[in-house]
Amino acid sequence: MENFDYDLFVIGAGSGGVRAARIAATHGARVGIAEEYRYGGTCVIRGCVPKKLFVYASKFSEEFEDAAGFGWSLNGEPSFDFQKLVSAKEKEITRLEGIYRRNLDLKDVELHDSRAVVEGPNTVRLLSTDKVITAKRILIATGAAPFVDSRIDGAELGITSNEAFDLKEFPKRIIVVGGGYIAVEFAGIFNGLGAETTLLYRGEEILRGFDADVRSALHGEMSEKGITVSTNSNVESIRKTDEGLEVITTAGATLTVDQVLFATGRHPNTAGLGLEAAGVELDAAGAIKVTADSQTSVESIYAVGDVTNRANLTPVAIREGHAFADSVYGGKVWSVDHSLIPTAVFSQPEIGTAGMTQEQALDAHKNVDIYKTSFRPMKNTLSGSSEKVFMKLIVDADTDKLLGAHIMGHDAGELIQIIGITLSMGATKADYDRTIAVHPTAAEELVTMREPSERIRQ
Ligand code: NDP
Repeated sequence: MENFDYDLFVIGAGSGGVRAARIAATHGARVGIAEEYRYGGTCVIRGCVPKKLFVYASKFSEEFEDAAGFGWSLNGEPSFDFQKLVSAKEKEITRLEGIYRRNLDLKDVELHDSRAVVEGPNTVRLLSTDKVITAKRILIATGAAPFVDSRIDGAELGITSNEAFDLKEFPKRIIVVGGGYIAVEFAGIFNGLGAETTLLYRGEEILRGFDADVRSALHGEMSEKGITVSTNSNVESIRKTDEGLEVITTAGATLTVDQVLFATGRHPNTAGLGLEAAGVELDAAGAIKVTADSQTSVESIYAVGDVTNRANLTPVAIREGHAFADSVYGGKVWSVDHSLIPTAVFSQPEIGTAGMTQEQALDAHKNVDIYKTSFRPMKNTLSGSSEKVFMKLIVDADTDKLLGAHIMGHDAGELIQIIGITLSMGATKADYDRTIAVHPTAAEELVTMREPSERIRQ
């Protein structure tokens, strides 16, 4: 009989790895896990969680302004202490990290605080002790890391989201480079906290891949809030001067700022893991190639989460880890459906999106009805804010089935979670129409849009 140290050895204690380890252990597997940094991974330590805390912090400046319209007056200028926020955030993620460790402990998962590299189909080396461990199966859940184009002259003077949560000094002027999730979220954070913020995006319009109406609506609102959104522009060079960092853009502008934050995508963490030597195949982007069951080209090695570059979102990594553990150790075989993933962007205003964009719907369906609305939410009648809510439903005109929903506005992330359920149930527009409105809410517009704004027939 095979004699391994563990049934399963997990490399990487982020969302996907921890879920897989815990569930496999619950099913009776002997599990070990290695983490070179902090338990909880990107999401908990330097991603979703601190990001959302910083978003909350950054919204107060607007709340203070809004309050005046409701009769409040704040005596004196509100002031903000960045280091207080950083240490409050640190306390919270340390608490969460403790919970991650404890939950693994409770399931008798053995924790190794070390970088681990694969040495063969059943062998892992722990670099901190140089100890070699054997396991019947290995799960790679090492996530991804920020990418910065090193060909940019002075790129090393910039920072990434990894450093942004622990800056020693709050930047009064900042350039955020990129037009994806992280770029728009950080532009909102720094702007709300009081920095003079410029977003540089190389393409025509931010948030490529999102619905076109949402992209332009967010662009407009960000500009309205005081962020300079420069499209068709990128960083050409960065140079340190007495005044700060001098940035020359590809559009020919020269800007002097205190920080340059690169949010130009993330690359899978596969380098130096011994994967090629073990025979694990990677794709052109350096991600681990896996089957729908998260199995790599080596039978005993599996991979979940961002390292596989399928849908790089925490809840997806968690599902992939859970499906793997249930299927292999729990006698319950299932795999993750990646076709419908509701998601939120914590930009300001927030975006929630589920299902197809209008473009995708038109590629897949002949006849499509579009319902959309844009309005000033009730709060803004007194606050004086010009911020609007945008909602769009995309419906297959032949079957009445809802194909996609896109929302920009307060709590869009909360809303889209519920709308996502209706989409996965196969809801029709008639189901929405039949539902009685909840008044007065912004969400009631979702069930009161009667006439399509556009009937597209092709
Ligand atoms: P994204 O892939 O969303 O965006 C990357 C951006 O950087 C794009 O605008 C891209 O431009 C631009 N870019 C890429 N390469 C370069 C380059 N060489 N020079 C200039 N610009 C470049 O990645 P993010 O880093 O924003 O986020 C990574 C992942 O993390 C996302 O895919 C998302 O899944 C996840 N995430 C999810 C969040 C959430 O759920 N709220 C929050 C944060 C992250 P172009 O469009 O032209 O390619």
